[in-house]
Amino acid sequence: MPANSTHPIRLLDLSRDALRDQVITWGQPAYRADQLHQWLYQQIAADPAEMTNLPASLRALLSEQAQIDLLTPVAETASRDGQTTKTLFRLHDGQLIETVLMRYDRRNTVCISSQAGCAMGCTFCATAQMGLQRNLTPGEITAQVLYFERWLRQQGDGGKRGKVGSGEREATSAAGNSGLRVTSNNAPSIAPHSPLPAPRSRVSNIVVMGMGEPLANYANLWQALRTLTDPAGFGLGARKITVSTVGLVPGIDRFAEEDVQINLAVSLHAPNDALRATLAPINHRYPIAEVIAACRRYVARTHRRISFEYAMMAGINDSPALAEELAALLHGLLCHVNLIPLNPVAGSPFQPSRREDVDAFVAILQSRGIPTTLRVRRGIDIDAGCGQLKARVTRESSPLLEPVL
Ligand code: SAH
Repeated sequence: MPANSTHPIRLLDLSRDALRDQVITWGQPAYRADQLHQWLYQQIAADPAEMTNLPASLRALLSEQAQIDLLTPVAETASRDGQTTKTLFRLHDGQLIETVLMRYDRRNTVCISSQAGCAMGCTFCATAQMGLQRNLTPGEITAQVLYFERWLRQQGDGGKRGKVGSGEREATSAAGNSGLRVTSNNAPSIAPHSPLPAPRSRVSNIVVMGMGEPLANYANLWQALRTLTDPAGFGLGARKITVSTVGLVPGIDRFAEEDVQINLAVSLHAPNDALRATLAPINHRYPIAEVIAACRRYVARTHRRISFEYAMMAGINDSPALAEELAALLHGLLCHVNLIPLNPVAGSPFQPSRREDVDAFVAILQSRGIPTTLRVRRGIDIDAGCGQLKARVTRESSPLLEPVL
């Protein structure tokens, strides 16, 4: 389809090969595609005018026919300590997705969405309440990372190239805002306003743990992951990236065959089918024995440790007996259990476990030789749980969204 102003070519949606074909279609030599690729993923350029080593003719074509930015930020929250920022983006068709930046532990971790909404129906999850709207394109997945990378660079080392962590600055001020901010115009970019600590300069980790089921959008996810790990592209180490799945067995098997060593996490939340089916209805299709068998195949094939996520819900899945059952289920598997304090969701009956119950659960798993950590709850005060910002913005602030919707 020829490009025109209503259907621009979305550059971030193109694989490296497709970008080369497009540049050749524009009558340019193939090496211009490599330069353009570097501008997009290494310099994180937002505008063809920045691409100073491209000929003016190609920059003009890009301005007329192509589009770089795919995300319009429409709302943003920062946690009180300033370490977590969550941004709600509008896509070209009005869909809303969420992305979170977490800055702690000398890391800048971006939590990205893979779908607008989700079809998996987990009963404790805010995104599930929205249902599935659509898959994100590869560019919409990648652009979430690029947005925060651009901002971190602007704040951090002034755009200098270097290793992750270079150009770090220490916190100097405790002042700042928190709470919801909704943009009132169609500004191309609002910088996350994060008071403290001062940002470090690069995205160092990516977790695909935002809205959606990544393995239900497999091809687009993997095109994005290849761009993000391509040394000639964004160039992040594969081991710095973790994809979380609800447990789609064919997807786990496919994942194990990939040549890029991305980490895999599986959302388990319960050690038996009767309980898990009430929390994650996909368990009717892929029961626990099948999921664990796929995980064992994954470990045998990749020799990589697999993570299990387990959201701790008071009186639901946090008893010592269930900890024992979980330990028996995972016995002998190269794995790690990540307990997540439940983020309470409006309108949901589930509540976070009591601290003493969590501690007892951890102690049992560890005594049975299962490496277990408790995820620090980040962004509880900013609706940073999956799908919660979109729910709050659409509930409270729809008039403010109108200028951009
Ligand atoms: N669909 C993928 C990724 C989505 S969310 C998956 O299911 O893994 C990433 C993690 O957050 C999952 O483990 C998910 O179960 C968990 N989660 C969702 N809602 C939550 C909530 N309210 N509190 C704590 N964890 C939650």
